[in-house]
Amino acid sequence: DFVPLDDISVWTPTAGASEKTLYPRNEKLDQKISLYSGDITKLEIDAIVNAANKSLLGGGGVDGAIHRAAGPMLKKECASLRGCDTGEAKISCGYGLPAKYVIHTVGPIAQGGVGEEEKEALRSCYKNSLRAATTNSARSVAFPCISTGIYGYPPEQAVHEALATVREYLDEHHNKLDRVIFCVFLPMDKELYMKTLPLYFPAA
Ligand code: ADP
Repeated sequence: DFVPLDDISVWTPTAGASEKTLYPRNEKLDQKISLYSGDITKLEIDAIVNAANKSLLGGGGVDGAIHRAAGPMLKKECASLRGCDTGEAKISCGYGLPAKYVIHTVGPIAQGGVGEEEKEALRSCYKNSLRAATTNSARSVAFPCISTGIYGYPPEQAVHEALATVREYLDEHHNKLDRVIFCVFLPMDKELYMKTLPLYFPAA
C-alpha cells in the first residue's frame, strides 16, 4: 500500500484563485509542489521529514508513526546521531519505510505563544530540512505540518512559515529538487493549505 511519487498529483493553482499573492509566479516551480492528504509513512519518495523531538529517539504523533513503520533499525541509527537542536535537521536511512531517507527536524514548542524566536525556528526547520535533502541528492521530499500537533504551534500561522520558506528555497535551488510535498493529515490542515498555497505559488 505504498504511494509512489507518480501517484501524487501536482498541485495546480487556479488562475485568479487569490487576489493578493505574496510572491509572483515562478514558472520554474510549476510541477514541483504537491498537497497530499494522508499518512507520510506510505510515501515512496526520496525523503520524508519527521517532526522529531530533541532526543531523536522517537515520540508520539508523526514521529511515532515513522518509527513504527521504519522498524527498530531507525532508532538505532538515530541514537548514533546524538540528538538535534530546535530548528536543526539530521538525516538517516528509511529502513522499513518506502522512503529512502528520513530527515529529522525539531520544531519549536509554541505552547507559550508564538514570538519571533518560534517563527524563526520553524522557518529553520523547513530550510535545514531542504538543505539536508539537496545535500544528499534527494529530489523529492515530503513535510508534515511541523510543530502544529503536540508542540502547539497554531496551524494557521505555521502554514505561512512553511510555504514562505519552501518558496524562497525553491526560487534559489529549483534545479536541485523535483517535488516538495506538503503532507497534511487533518482535514482542517488540508483546507488551510488549499487556501494558502495560491498566495505563495500563484498561477500565471
Ligand atoms: P509536533 O510535536 O512537531 O507538533 P506532531 O506529530 O504532534 O508533531 O504533529 C505534527 C503534525 O503531524 C500534525 O498535523 C499531525 O496531525 C500530523 N501527523 C500525525 N501523524 C501523521 C502521519 N502518519 N502522517 C502525516 N502527518 C501526521
